Amino acid sequence: ICWSEKGGWHRPRVQPYGPIAMDPAAAVLHYGQEIFEGLKAYRHADGSIWSFRPDQNALRMQRSAKRMALPELPADYFLESLKQLIAVDGAWVPSAPEMSLYIRPYMYAKEAFLGVRAAKKVAFYIIAAPAGPYFSGGVKPVSIWLSTDYSRAGKGGTGQAKTGGNYAASLVAQAEAAEHGCAQVLFLDSVEGKYLEELGGMNIVLVYKDGRVVTPQSDTILQGITRDSILQLAEDAGHTVERRPVTLEEWRDGVESGDIVEAFACGTAAVVTPIGQLKSKDFTIGDLDQPAGPLTLALREKLTDIQYGRQPDPYGWMFRLDG
Ligand code: PMP
Repeated sequence: ICWSEKGGWHRPRVQPYGPIAMDPAAAVLHYGQEIFEGLKAYRHADGSIWSFRPDQNALRMQRSAKRMALPELPADYFLESLKQLIAVDGAWVPSAPEMSLYIRPYMYAKEAFLGVRAAKKVAFYIIAAPAGPYFSGGVKPVSIWLSTDYSRAGKGGTGQAKTGGNYAASLVAQAEAAEHGCAQVLFLDSVEGKYLEELGGMNIVLVYKDGRVVTPQSDTILQGITRDSILQLAEDAGHTVERRPVTLEEWRDGVESGDIVEAFACGTAAVVTPIGQLKSKDFTIGDLDQPAGPLTLALREKLTDIQYGRQPDPYGWMFRLDG
């Protein structure tokens, strides 16, 4: 579907997957004016196809659009385009356990000009591909690397938007993590360098011995839909949930004293993945040989039971894409 300042949203269509023509002067190539989303379609046992809280992806995309001076796509267009994609061929959604169809909506500035201003012509696309678990080890704990040289997003910047530039800024840190045998990079805040932010593509949650579930609150991280859902599940299971600034020191001291007993990463791709170890240039905390924590596993199961339709969905989170 295309957008122009004069014509608004127009020309919705489904077309075969293939290269898209792009003017060499398209604004996105020069100024990075683009945003995207990531969500999944799940096949339930009766064959029906559902996605998880896509209204939240639609709203987040609108917030990202606002920050990136892109036009707002109405939420019903967003949801309808997911349905139309599935209507082409529902067989794309795998039925094997742990499998899903990963869906990637994105919007970019296609107007051709050189000069820094918001583009007046934009395109919105959706692509999709079957996907298995993000981490090959399943729920095996992973190690993460603390980035001390790079930050992902600054105060007043684009950290809350799902825009390519944030990921571009994280690539070198992610490569450093991989060099140290870590699956993901952990970013700290860019102002004081002491507060936990998020991982390259996931949010982070800590679990205290007394049952409290704590997650960093920050203006410069992506507000994850998985995190929001997991915290709701934890709250409804009787846990106290805290969304507040969390220092690296709090995590380190908490692990050392035994007050923090679990840590996990969460996101559409990662679902809920236990963090076994945090490594940095100066220290390592945690133990990769420790099994995944019980609350991490329980929350993962609760969430995936709803997503795959194995348990009822009391929250009205699932949205039917077929039929
Ligand atoms: N933070 C970042 C940087 C991400 O890329 C993602 C994945 N979209 C998340 C957090 C988790 O967000 P969600 O649960 O909505 O997938």
